[in-house]
Amino acid sequence: MAHKQQKKRTSIPVYDLPVEKNQRIELTIEDLSHEGNGVGRYEGYTIFIPGVLPGERVAVSMTKLKKQYGYARLLDIIDQSPARQEPPCPIYKRCGGCTLQHFDYAAQLEFKRKLVEDNLRRIGKIEGVPVHPTIGMENPWRYRNKAQVPIGEEEGGLIGGFYAQRTHEIIDMESCLIQHEHNDRLVQQVKRIASKYGIPAYFEGTHRGVLRHVVTKVGFATGELMLVLVTNGDRLPHKDALVEELVQEIPGLKSIVQNVNTKRTNVIFGDTTRVLWGQEYIYDTIGSVKFAISARSFYQVNPVQTERLYSKALEYAALSGSENVIDAYCGIGTISLFLAQKAKHVFGVEIVPDAIEDAKRNARLNGMKNVTFEVGEAEVVIPRWYEEGNRADVIVVDPPRKGCDEALLRTIVEMKPERVVYVSCNPATLARDLRMLEDGGYRTVQVQPVDMFPHTVHVECCALIVRSIVKKQ
Ligand code: SAH
Repeated sequence: MAHKQQKKRTSIPVYDLPVEKNQRIELTIEDLSHEGNGVGRYEGYTIFIPGVLPGERVAVSMTKLKKQYGYARLLDIIDQSPARQEPPCPIYKRCGGCTLQHFDYAAQLEFKRKLVEDNLRRIGKIEGVPVHPTIGMENPWRYRNKAQVPIGEEEGGLIGGFYAQRTHEIIDMESCLIQHEHNDRLVQQVKRIASKYGIPAYFEGTHRGVLRHVVTKVGFATGELMLVLVTNGDRLPHKDALVEELVQEIPGLKSIVQNVNTKRTNVIFGDTTRVLWGQEYIYDTIGSVKFAISARSFYQVNPVQTERLYSKALEYAALSGSENVIDAYCGIGTISLFLAQKAKHVFGVEIVPDAIEDAKRNARLNGMKNVTFEVGEAEVVIPRWYEEGNRADVIVVDPPRKGCDEALLRTIVEMKPERVVYVSCNPATLARDLRMLEDGGYRTVQVQPVDMFPHTVHVECCALIVRSIVKKQ
Protein backbone atom coordinates (compact mmCIF):
# COMPACT_ATOMS: atom_id res chain seq x y z
CA MET A 1 0.00 0.00 0.00
CA ALA A 2 2.65 2.47 1.12
CA HIS A 3 4.63 1.74 -1.98
CA LYS A 4 1.63 2.38 -4.19
CA GLN A 5 0.91 5.72 -2.57
CA GLN A 6 4.45 6.92 -3.18
CA LYS A 7 4.11 6.46 -6.89
CA LYS A 8 4.43 9.93 -8.38
CA ARG A 9 1.42 10.59 -10.57
CA THR A 10 2.89 13.79 -11.95
CA SER A 11 5.67 11.93 -13.74
CA ILE A 12 3.18 9.95 -15.82
CA PRO A 13 2.06 11.79 -18.97
CA VAL A 14 -1.62 11.50 -18.21
CA TYR A 15 -2.93 12.65 -21.55
CA ASP A 16 -1.17 13.23 -24.80
CA LEU A 17 -1.98 16.94 -25.25
CA PRO A 18 -0.54 19.48 -27.71
CA VAL A 19 -0.01 22.08 -24.93
CA GLU A 20 1.44 22.27 -21.42
CA LYS A 21 0.43 24.28 -18.42
CA ASN A 22 1.67 27.91 -18.58
CA GLN A 23 2.61 27.51 -22.23
CA ARG A 24 2.08 30.60 -24.36
CA ILE A 25 0.18 29.95 -27.57
CA GLU A 26 -1.64 31.96 -30.22
CA LEU A 27 -5.03 31.06 -31.56
CA THR A 28 -8.13 32.48 -33.20
CA ILE A 29 -11.42 32.61 -31.29
CA GLU A 30 -14.21 30.85 -33.15
CA ASP A 31 -17.18 31.14 -30.86
CA LEU A 32 -18.48 32.00 -27.39
CA SER A 33 -19.59 29.27 -24.99
CA HIS A 34 -22.86 29.57 -23.07
CA GLU A 35 -20.77 30.81 -20.14
CA GLY A 36 -19.42 33.66 -22.26
CA ASN A 37 -15.90 32.23 -22.63
CA GLY A 38 -14.19 32.45 -25.99
CA VAL A 39 -13.67 29.09 -27.67
CA GLY A 40 -10.61 28.40 -29.84
CA ARG A 41 -8.72 25.35 -31.05
CA TYR A 42 -5.01 24.60 -30.92
CA GLU A 43 -3.97 21.58 -32.95
CA GLY A 44 -7.49 20.23 -32.55
CA TYR A 45 -7.56 20.76 -28.77
CA THR A 46 -10.43 22.96 -27.52
CA ILE A 47 -9.51 25.86 -25.27
CA PHE A 48 -11.81 28.19 -23.31
CA ILE A 49 -10.64 31.74 -22.58
CA PRO A 50 -12.53 34.38 -20.57
CA GLY A 51 -12.66 37.96 -21.87
CA VAL A 52 -12.09 37.30 -25.59
CA LEU A 53 -14.43 37.58 -28.55
CA PRO A 54 -15.19 35.60 -31.71
CA GLY A 55 -12.90 36.54 -34.58
CA GLU A 56 -10.10 37.75 -32.34
CA ARG A 57 -6.54 36.49 -32.72
CA VAL A 58 -5.08 36.25 -29.21
CA ALA A 59 -2.03 35.13 -27.28
CA VAL A 60 -2.90 33.15 -24.17
CA SER A 61 -1.25 31.21 -21.38
CA MET A 62 -2.63 27.75 -20.52
CA THR A 63 -4.05 27.61 -16.98
CA LYS A 64 -5.87 24.29 -16.72
CA LEU A 65 -5.63 21.14 -18.80
CA LYS A 66 -8.27 18.45 -19.07
CA LYS A 67 -8.44 15.51 -21.40
CA GLN A 68 -11.02 16.92 -23.80
CA TYR A 69 -10.46 20.66 -23.33
CA GLY A 70 -8.47 23.24 -21.41
CA TYR A 71 -8.62 26.79 -20.06
CA ALA A 72 -6.30 29.70 -20.71
CA ARG A 73 -5.76 33.29 -19.63
CA LEU A 74 -5.55 36.17 -22.04
CA LEU A 75 -2.08 37.71 -22.51
CA ASP A 76 -2.43 39.82 -25.66
CA ILE A 77 -5.02 40.66 -28.25
CA ILE A 78 -3.27 40.48 -31.64
CA ASP A 79 -6.32 41.19 -33.83
CA GLN A 80 -9.21 42.85 -32.06
CA SER A 81 -12.90 42.28 -32.82
CA PRO A 82 -14.80 45.37 -34.03
CA ALA A 83 -17.45 44.35 -31.45
CA ARG A 84 -15.02 44.84 -28.56
CA GLN A 85 -15.71 47.81 -26.31
CA GLU A 86 -14.13 49.23 -23.19
CA PRO A 87 -16.20 47.90 -20.26
CA PRO A 88 -17.88 51.00 -18.78
CA CYS A 89 -17.80 49.62 -15.23
CA PRO A 90 -14.60 50.34 -13.25
CA ILE A 91 -14.96 47.18 -11.15
CA TYR A 92 -15.85 44.92 -14.07
CA LYS A 93 -12.82 42.65 -13.77
CA ARG A 94 -12.97 42.14 -10.00
CA CYS A 95 -16.72 41.70 -9.62
CA GLY A 96 -17.57 38.97 -12.11
CA GLY A 97 -21.29 39.72 -12.00
CA CYS A 98 -21.40 40.79 -15.65
CA THR A 99 -19.31 38.74 -18.08
CA LEU A 100 -20.10 40.42 -21.40
CA GLN A 101 -19.42 44.10 -20.79
CA HIS A 102 -16.46 44.00 -23.20
CA PHE A 103 -18.91 42.99 -25.93
CA ASP A 104 -20.87 45.61 -27.88
CA TYR A 105 -24.57 45.42 -26.90
CA ALA A 106 -25.83 44.65 -30.42
CA ALA A 107 -23.32 41.78 -30.58
CA GLN A 108 -24.48 40.49 -27.19
CA LEU A 109 -28.04 40.33 -28.50
CA GLU A 110 -26.98 38.41 -31.60
CA PHE A 111 -24.85 36.05 -29.46
CA LYS A 112 -27.93 35.23 -27.38
CA ARG A 113 -30.09 34.68 -30.46
CA LYS A 114 -27.53 32.36 -32.02
CA LEU A 115 -27.09 30.44 -28.77
CA VAL A 116 -30.82 29.63 -28.78
CA GLU A 117 -30.70 28.62 -32.44
CA ASP A 118 -27.62 26.41 -31.89
CA ASN A 119 -29.21 24.66 -28.92
CA LEU A 120 -32.41 23.98 -30.84
CA ARG A 121 -30.42 22.42 -33.66
CA ARG A 122 -27.83 20.50 -31.62
CA ILE A 123 -29.94 19.27 -28.71
CA GLY A 124 -33.48 19.41 -30.06
CA LYS A 125 -32.71 18.53 -33.68
CA ILE A 126 -35.06 21.37 -34.54
CA GLU A 127 -34.15 23.29 -37.68
CA GLY A 128 -35.82 25.91 -39.83
CA VAL A 129 -37.77 27.41 -36.93
CA PRO A 130 -37.41 31.19 -36.83
CA VAL A 131 -35.46 32.41 -33.81
CA HIS A 132 -36.17 36.14 -33.96
CA PRO A 133 -33.63 38.88 -33.18
CA THR A 134 -33.29 39.22 -29.40
CA ILE A 135 -35.47 41.98 -27.96
CA GLY A 136 -32.94 44.20 -26.18
CA MET A 137 -33.23 47.30 -24.03
CA GLU A 138 -32.93 50.83 -25.46
CA ASN A 139 -30.81 51.63 -22.43
CA PRO A 140 -29.29 48.38 -21.15
CA TRP A 141 -28.09 49.85 -17.83
CA ARG A 142 -29.62 50.47 -14.42
CA TYR A 143 -32.22 47.78 -15.07
CA ARG A 144 -32.25 45.81 -11.78
CA ASN A 145 -34.93 46.52 -9.19
CA LYS A 146 -33.30 44.57 -6.37
CA ALA A 147 -29.86 44.82 -4.71
CA GLN A 148 -28.50 42.28 -2.24
CA VAL A 149 -25.31 43.58 -0.70
CA PRO A 150 -23.06 41.74 1.78
CA ILE A 151 -21.82 44.02 4.55
CA GLY A 152 -18.33 44.09 6.05
CA GLU A 153 -16.20 46.46 8.06
CA GLU A 154 -13.07 48.43 7.50
CA GLU A 155 -11.46 51.04 9.66
CA GLY A 156 -13.79 53.97 9.53
CA GLY A 157 -17.02 52.08 9.13
CA LEU A 158 -19.14 49.68 7.18
CA ILE A 159 -18.42 48.59 3.65
CA GLY A 160 -20.72 46.76 1.29
CA GLY A 161 -20.58 45.66 -2.28
CA PHE A 162 -19.74 42.26 -3.64
CA TYR A 163 -17.54 39.26 -2.99
CA ALA A 164 -14.31 39.32 -5.01
CA GLN A 165 -14.57 36.51 -7.59
CA ARG A 166 -14.39 33.03 -6.05
CA THR A 167 -13.75 34.41 -2.53
CA HIS A 168 -15.67 35.66 0.46
CA GLU A 169 -13.72 38.88 0.64
CA ILE A 170 -16.12 41.82 0.53
CA ILE A 171 -15.16 44.66 -1.76
CA ASP A 172 -16.77 48.04 -1.18
CA MET A 173 -18.78 49.42 -4.06
CA GLU A 174 -20.32 52.82 -4.59
CA SER A 175 -22.20 52.15 -7.74
CA CYS A 176 -23.30 49.18 -9.83
CA LEU A 177 -24.13 50.14 -13.39
CA ILE A 178 -26.87 47.56 -13.85
CA GLN A 179 -28.58 48.58 -10.61
CA HIS A 180 -31.36 51.17 -10.37
CA GLU A 181 -29.91 54.47 -9.01
CA HIS A 182 -32.34 54.43 -6.09
CA ASN A 183 -30.94 51.10 -4.89
CA ASP A 184 -27.36 52.35 -5.21
CA ARG A 185 -28.13 55.49 -3.29
CA LEU A 186 -30.10 53.66 -0.60
CA VAL A 187 -27.25 51.22 0.05
CA GLN A 188 -24.78 54.11 0.37
CA GLN A 189 -27.05 55.90 2.84
CA VAL A 190 -27.51 52.78 4.94
CA LYS A 191 -23.74 52.21 5.12
CA ARG A 192 -23.17 55.82 6.15
CA ILE A 193 -25.94 56.06 8.73
CA ALA A 194 -25.38 52.59 10.24
CA SER A 195 -21.64 53.39 10.52
CA LYS A 196 -22.49 56.58 12.36
CA TYR A 197 -24.41 54.58 14.98
CA GLY A 198 -21.54 52.11 15.28
CA ILE A 199 -23.58 49.12 14.13
CA PRO A 200 -21.12 46.26 13.69
CA ALA A 201 -20.96 44.19 10.54
CA TYR A 202 -21.31 40.42 10.72
CA PHE A 203 -18.13 38.37 10.36
CA GLU A 204 -18.47 35.02 8.72
CA GLY A 205 -15.29 33.66 10.30
CA THR A 206 -16.31 34.23 13.92
CA HIS A 207 -20.09 34.17 13.30
CA ARG A 208 -20.31 37.37 15.37
CA GLY A 209 -21.45 40.89 14.67
CA VAL A 210 -24.82 42.19 13.52
CA LEU A 211 -25.45 43.39 9.98
CA ARG A 212 -25.09 40.63 7.38
CA HIS A 213 -26.79 41.94 4.26
CA VAL A 214 -28.61 45.01 3.08
CA VAL A 215 -31.34 44.20 0.58
CA THR A 216 -33.15 46.98 -1.26
CA LYS A 217 -36.05 46.90 -3.67
CA VAL A 218 -37.59 49.58 -5.84
CA GLY A 219 -40.88 49.60 -7.71
CA PHE A 220 -39.92 51.00 -11.13
CA ALA A 221 -43.43 52.17 -11.89
CA THR A 222 -44.22 53.57 -8.44
CA GLY A 223 -40.81 54.73 -7.12
CA GLU A 224 -41.56 53.00 -3.81
CA LEU A 225 -38.53 51.76 -1.89
CA MET A 226 -38.07 48.90 0.58
CA LEU A 227 -35.07 48.36 2.81
CA VAL A 228 -34.35 44.99 4.42
CA LEU A 229 -31.66 44.75 7.10
CA VAL A 230 -30.55 41.14 7.56
CA THR A 231 -29.13 40.72 11.05
CA ASN A 232 -27.37 37.93 12.92
CA GLY A 233 -29.96 37.80 15.73
CA ASP A 234 -32.81 39.95 17.04
CA ARG A 235 -30.52 42.66 18.35
CA LEU A 236 -30.14 45.80 16.26
CA PRO A 237 -28.35 48.49 18.35
CA HIS A 238 -29.78 52.04 18.18
CA LYS A 239 -32.70 50.69 16.21
CA ASP A 240 -35.08 53.60 16.76
CA ALA A 241 -32.56 56.33 15.99
CA LEU A 242 -31.35 54.43 12.96
CA VAL A 243 -34.85 53.98 11.58
CA GLU A 244 -35.74 57.61 12.23
CA GLU A 245 -32.70 58.92 10.41
CA LEU A 246 -33.16 56.54 7.46
CA VAL A 247 -36.77 57.67 7.07
CA GLN A 248 -35.74 61.34 7.17
CA GLU A 249 -32.88 60.96 4.73
CA ILE A 250 -34.45 58.72 2.11
CA PRO A 251 -37.40 60.01 0.11
CA GLY A 252 -39.62 57.33 -1.35
CA LEU A 253 -38.84 54.88 1.45
CA LYS A 254 -42.07 53.01 2.24
CA SER A 255 -40.87 50.05 4.24
CA ILE A 256 -38.02 49.08 6.57
CA VAL A 257 -37.88 45.42 7.46
CA GLN A 258 -35.57 43.38 9.67
CA ASN A 259 -34.85 39.80 8.75
CA VAL A 260 -33.06 37.62 11.28
CA ASN A 261 -30.62 35.03 10.01
CA THR A 262 -28.60 33.28 12.72
CA LYS A 263 -27.38 30.40 10.57
CA ARG A 264 -23.85 29.82 9.31
CA THR A 265 -24.85 29.84 5.69
CA ASN A 266 -24.48 31.61 2.36
CA VAL A 267 -28.26 31.87 2.13
CA ILE A 268 -29.15 35.52 2.63
CA PHE A 269 -32.48 35.35 4.44
CA GLY A 270 -33.43 33.69 7.71
CA ASP A 271 -36.91 32.62 8.78
CA THR A 272 -37.99 35.61 10.90
CA THR A 273 -39.08 38.84 9.24
CA ARG A 274 -40.53 41.86 11.03
CA VAL A 275 -41.54 45.30 9.86
CA LEU A 276 -39.57 48.02 11.69
CA TRP A 277 -41.28 50.93 10.01
CA GLY A 278 -43.94 51.55 7.35
CA GLN A 279 -45.64 49.01 5.12
CA GLU A 280 -45.07 45.29 4.80
CA TYR A 281 -45.24 45.62 1.00
CA ILE A 282 -44.17 47.94 -1.74
CA TYR A 283 -46.08 47.99 -5.01
CA ASP A 284 -45.12 47.89 -8.65
CA THR A 285 -46.97 47.43 -11.90
CA ILE A 286 -46.06 45.47 -15.00
CA GLY A 287 -48.25 46.55 -17.88
CA SER A 288 -51.58 47.14 -16.20
CA VAL A 289 -51.17 44.47 -13.53
CA LYS A 290 -50.27 45.53 -9.99
CA PHE A 291 -48.00 43.50 -7.73
CA ALA A 292 -47.36 43.60 -3.98
CA ILE A 293 -43.74 42.82 -3.16
CA SER A 294 -42.67 41.77 0.33
CA ALA A 295 -39.16 41.28 1.71
CA ARG A 296 -39.17 37.61 0.76
CA SER A 297 -41.32 37.58 -2.40
CA PHE A 298 -39.77 36.48 -5.63
CA TYR A 299 -40.22 39.17 -8.25
CA GLN A 300 -38.62 39.46 -11.68
CA VAL A 301 -35.55 41.72 -11.39
CA ASN A 302 -35.88 43.50 -14.73
CA PRO A 303 -39.45 44.82 -14.89
CA VAL A 304 -39.03 46.61 -18.23
CA GLN A 305 -38.04 43.45 -20.10
CA THR A 306 -40.42 41.28 -18.06
CA GLU A 307 -43.29 43.23 -19.56
CA ARG A 308 -41.93 42.56 -23.05
CA LEU A 309 -41.39 38.86 -22.37
CA TYR A 310 -44.84 38.36 -20.90
CA SER A 311 -46.47 40.40 -23.66
CA LYS A 312 -44.86 37.99 -26.08
CA ALA A 313 -46.19 35.03 -24.06
CA LEU A 314 -49.65 36.62 -24.19
CA GLU A 315 -49.36 37.19 -27.95
CA TYR A 316 -48.31 33.56 -28.51
CA ALA A 317 -51.17 32.34 -26.31
CA ALA A 318 -53.53 34.13 -28.78
CA LEU A 319 -56.42 34.23 -26.32
CA SER A 320 -59.93 35.22 -27.36
CA GLY A 321 -61.55 35.13 -23.94
CA SER A 322 -63.04 31.64 -24.08
CA GLU A 323 -59.92 29.64 -23.15
CA ASN A 324 -58.97 27.73 -20.07
CA VAL A 325 -55.26 28.24 -19.51
CA ILE A 326 -52.76 26.47 -17.27
CA ASP A 327 -49.73 28.38 -16.02
CA ALA A 328 -47.25 25.78 -14.75
CA TYR A 329 -44.40 27.00 -12.50
CA CYS A 330 -46.39 30.19 -11.88
CA GLY A 331 -44.34 31.73 -9.03
CA ILE A 332 -46.23 34.74 -7.63
CA GLY A 333 -48.60 34.59 -10.58
CA THR A 334 -46.94 37.18 -12.79
CA ILE A 335 -47.72 35.40 -16.06
CA SER A 336 -51.05 34.03 -14.78
CA LEU A 337 -52.39 37.52 -14.08
CA PHE A 338 -51.14 38.77 -17.42
CA LEU A 339 -52.98 35.93 -19.16
CA ALA A 340 -56.10 36.31 -17.01
CA GLN A 341 -56.73 39.69 -18.66
CA LYS A 342 -57.61 37.81 -21.86
CA ALA A 343 -58.58 34.26 -20.79
CA LYS A 344 -61.74 32.68 -19.47
CA HIS A 345 -59.88 31.13 -16.56
CA VAL A 346 -56.23 30.62 -15.58
CA PHE A 347 -55.05 27.79 -13.31
CA GLY A 348 -51.60 28.38 -11.80
CA VAL A 349 -49.46 25.79 -10.07
CA GLU A 350 -46.26 26.39 -8.12
CA ILE A 351 -44.20 24.42 -5.60
CA VAL A 352 -43.45 27.22 -3.07
CA PRO A 353 -46.42 27.86 -0.73
CA ASP A 354 -45.41 31.49 0.03
CA ALA A 355 -45.33 32.28 -3.69
CA ILE A 356 -48.90 30.94 -4.03
CA GLU A 357 -49.97 33.16 -1.12
CA ASP A 358 -48.47 36.12 -3.00
CA ALA A 359 -50.17 35.02 -6.22
CA LYS A 360 -53.58 34.94 -4.51
CA ARG A 361 -52.96 38.33 -2.92
CA ASN A 362 -51.97 39.79 -6.27
CA ALA A 363 -55.12 38.39 -7.89
CA ARG A 364 -57.24 40.09 -5.20
CA LEU A 365 -55.25 43.31 -5.56
CA ASN A 366 -56.21 43.41 -9.24
CA GLY A 367 -59.80 42.29 -8.65
CA MET A 368 -59.22 39.24 -10.83
CA LYS A 369 -61.60 36.39 -10.07
CA ASN A 370 -60.88 34.15 -13.05
CA VAL A 371 -57.71 32.67 -11.56
CA THR A 372 -57.13 29.67 -9.30
CA PHE A 373 -53.79 28.85 -7.71
CA GLU A 374 -52.63 25.57 -6.24
CA VAL A 375 -49.48 24.60 -4.36
CA GLY A 376 -47.69 21.50 -5.64
CA GLU A 377 -45.39 20.03 -8.21
CA ALA A 378 -46.51 20.81 -11.74
CA GLU A 379 -45.74 17.21 -12.76
CA VAL A 380 -48.08 15.89 -10.04
CA VAL A 381 -50.86 18.46 -9.95
CA ILE A 382 -51.44 18.83 -13.70
CA PRO A 383 -51.69 15.03 -14.36
CA ARG A 384 -54.21 14.92 -11.51
CA TRP A 385 -56.25 17.75 -13.05
CA TYR A 386 -56.19 15.81 -16.31
CA GLU A 387 -57.40 12.61 -14.63
CA GLU A 388 -60.21 14.60 -13.02
CA GLY A 389 -61.37 15.50 -16.53
CA ASN A 390 -60.01 19.06 -16.70
CA ARG A 391 -58.64 20.26 -20.01
CA ALA A 392 -56.71 23.35 -21.03
CA ASP A 393 -56.77 25.10 -24.40
CA VAL A 394 -53.41 26.70 -23.77
CA ILE A 395 -50.62 25.63 -21.42
CA VAL A 396 -47.87 28.05 -20.44
CA VAL A 397 -44.74 26.72 -18.74
CA ASP A 398 -41.94 28.79 -17.17
CA PRO A 399 -39.76 26.18 -15.47
CA PRO A 400 -36.47 26.64 -13.59
CA ARG A 401 -33.16 25.97 -15.39
CA LYS A 402 -33.54 22.20 -15.32
CA GLY A 403 -36.60 22.46 -17.56
CA CYS A 404 -39.92 20.59 -17.39
CA ASP A 405 -40.33 17.23 -15.75
CA GLU A 406 -40.98 14.44 -18.28
CA ALA A 407 -44.23 13.51 -16.57
CA LEU A 408 -45.53 17.02 -17.20
CA LEU A 409 -44.55 16.91 -20.88
CA ARG A 410 -46.29 13.53 -21.23
CA THR A 411 -49.44 14.96 -19.70
CA ILE A 412 -49.32 17.96 -22.03
CA VAL A 413 -49.11 15.62 -25.03
CA GLU A 414 -52.08 13.62 -23.71
CA MET A 415 -54.14 16.67 -22.78
CA LYS A 416 -53.70 18.05 -26.32
CA PRO A 417 -53.94 21.81 -25.76
CA GLU A 418 -54.02 23.75 -29.04
CA ARG A 419 -51.01 25.78 -28.01
CA VAL A 420 -48.11 25.54 -25.63
CA VAL A 421 -46.14 28.65 -24.72
CA TYR A 422 -42.75 27.81 -23.26
CA VAL A 423 -40.92 30.57 -21.36
CA SER A 424 -37.36 29.41 -20.77
CA CYS A 425 -34.24 30.64 -18.98
CA ASN A 426 -32.12 27.81 -20.36
CA PRO A 427 -32.03 27.12 -24.11
CA ALA A 428 -30.48 23.66 -23.58
CA THR A 429 -33.40 22.28 -21.57
CA LEU A 430 -35.85 24.18 -23.78
CA ALA A 431 -34.43 22.33 -26.81
CA ARG A 432 -34.64 18.95 -25.02
CA ASP A 433 -38.27 19.57 -24.00
CA LEU A 434 -39.29 20.84 -27.44
CA ARG A 435 -37.99 17.59 -28.93
CA MET A 436 -40.29 15.63 -26.64
CA LEU A 437 -43.27 17.81 -27.55
CA GLU A 438 -42.45 17.50 -31.27
CA ASP A 439 -42.30 13.71 -30.94
CA GLY A 440 -45.72 13.90 -29.29
CA GLY A 441 -47.33 15.64 -32.26
CA TYR A 442 -46.47 19.27 -31.65
CA ARG A 443 -44.61 21.69 -33.88
CA THR A 444 -42.40 24.58 -32.79
CA VAL A 445 -43.54 27.65 -34.71
CA GLN A 446 -41.23 30.43 -33.53
CA VAL A 447 -38.93 31.46 -30.72
CA GLN A 448 -38.38 34.95 -29.35
CA PRO A 449 -35.32 35.64 -27.17
CA VAL A 450 -35.70 38.59 -24.78
CA ASP A 451 -32.70 40.11 -23.03
CA MET A 452 -33.65 40.15 -19.36
CA PHE A 453 -30.08 40.45 -18.07
CA PRO A 454 -27.93 42.69 -20.32
CA HIS A 455 -24.13 42.19 -19.99
CA THR A 456 -24.58 38.78 -18.39
CA VAL A 457 -24.72 35.47 -20.24
CA HIS A 458 -28.29 34.70 -19.17
CA VAL A 459 -30.61 34.02 -22.08
CA GLU A 460 -34.37 34.08 -21.72
CA CYS A 461 -36.81 33.21 -24.48
CA CYS A 462 -40.39 32.43 -25.29
CA ALA A 463 -41.39 29.68 -27.72
CA LEU A 464 -44.72 29.00 -29.44
CA ILE A 465 -45.60 25.35 -29.97
CA VAL A 466 -48.81 24.22 -31.65
CA ARG A 467 -50.53 20.88 -32.13
CA SER A 468 -49.84 19.80 -35.65
CA ILE A 469 -50.77 16.21 -36.33
CA VAL A 470 -53.17 13.67 -34.96
CA LYS A 471 -50.97 10.88 -33.71
CA LYS A 472 -51.86 7.46 -35.09
CA GLN A 473 -52.43 4.84 -32.42
N1 SAH B 1 -43.42 32.42 -13.84
C1 SAH B 1 -42.94 32.95 -12.61
C2 SAH B 1 -41.75 32.24 -12.00
C3 SAH B 1 -40.96 31.32 -12.84
S1 SAH B 1 -39.48 30.74 -12.06
C4 SAH B 1 -42.65 34.41 -12.74
O1 SAH B 1 -42.45 34.90 -13.83
O2 SAH B 1 -42.62 35.11 -11.74
C5 SAH B 1 -39.83 29.03 -11.87
C6 SAH B 1 -40.75 28.72 -10.71
O3 SAH B 1 -40.95 27.32 -10.69
C7 SAH B 1 -40.21 29.06 -9.34
O4 SAH B 1 -41.15 29.88 -8.70
C8 SAH B 1 -40.07 27.71 -8.62
O5 SAH B 1 -40.37 27.79 -7.25
C9 SAH B 1 -41.08 26.88 -9.35
N2 SAH B 1 -40.88 25.41 -9.37
C10 SAH B 1 -39.74 24.72 -9.37
N3 SAH B 1 -39.97 23.39 -9.51
C11 SAH B 1 -41.31 23.25 -9.60
C12 SAH B 1 -42.18 22.12 -9.77
N4 SAH B 1 -41.69 20.89 -9.88
N5 SAH B 1 -43.50 22.33 -9.84
C13 SAH B 1 -44.00 23.60 -9.75
N6 SAH B 1 -43.24 24.69 -9.58
C14 SAH B 1 -41.91 24.53 -9.50
